[in-house]
Amino acid sequence: MSTASWQDWLDRGLGGHCALCESSLSGVALCTHCRHSLPALPQPCPVCALPMQAFCAHPAGWRLDSLYAPFIYSGSVSVLIGRLKFHRQRWLGRVIGRVLGSALSGHFDWCMPVPLHRRRLAQRGFNQALEIASGIAPSIDGMRLVTGGLQRLRNTPPQAQLSVKARKTNLIGCFAVNANVERLRILLVDDVVTTGSTLTALATLLQQRGAAHVGGVAFARAIGRHAIKV
Ligand SMILES: [Zn+2]
Ligand SMILES: [Zn+2]
Repeated sequence: MSTASWQDWLDRGLGGHCALCESSLSGVALCTHCRHSLPALPQPCPVCALPMQAFCAHPAGWRLDSLYAPFIYSGSVSVLIGRLKFHRQRWLGRVIGRVLGSALSGHFDWCMPVPLHRRRLAQRGFNQALEIASGIAPSIDGMRLVTGGLQRLRNTPPQAQLSVKARKTNLIGCFAVNANVERLRILLVDDVVTTGSTLTALATLLQQRGAAHVGGVAFARAIGRHAIKV
């Protein structure tokens, strides 16, 4: 994790109370206890974001060229994600996006949030990946936030509720690309990466359509026993 930028976020403060336990605070976003409770991913692989020793083989069928996800999806990180998604704290998405953007390296032409199906979007009222992408895009020179370029055609059940085999079937033909992505460097944005199968499906499509590079960014990565339901 790029500790400097996260520290900056934690120290800058978000408004009078801890974003996790809601104890009264001034000038910081998380109290000391909650700050130390955020589980950082140890030595993440720059391609698949799984913890690595000297070498990483990446999961079978992995298609992304790069993935940055600084935290493990568990504990207090899953609480923050829950606040963003299910308690409609959209500001949290933009703050997370700003910090992710300042920690990202590399050049990207387009920033594309993973789309929700229109029915799920209507239920939730917003796309959490778009909130995060809105925070990321201004932090990277020359990158454009493109919101209509990807479409989710089917309202599939959440991936984490399915077996590995069902996940693959579940995503065949699930997405469409509605933009010319030839020779572009694309950054896909999501809140959490569980198995990576959604990003893999999108990267496969974008690469078929001529994208030069498809990277991904998310706040958190599910690993091992933490690869749980979203
Ligand atoms: Zn706290
Ligand atoms: Zn890897």
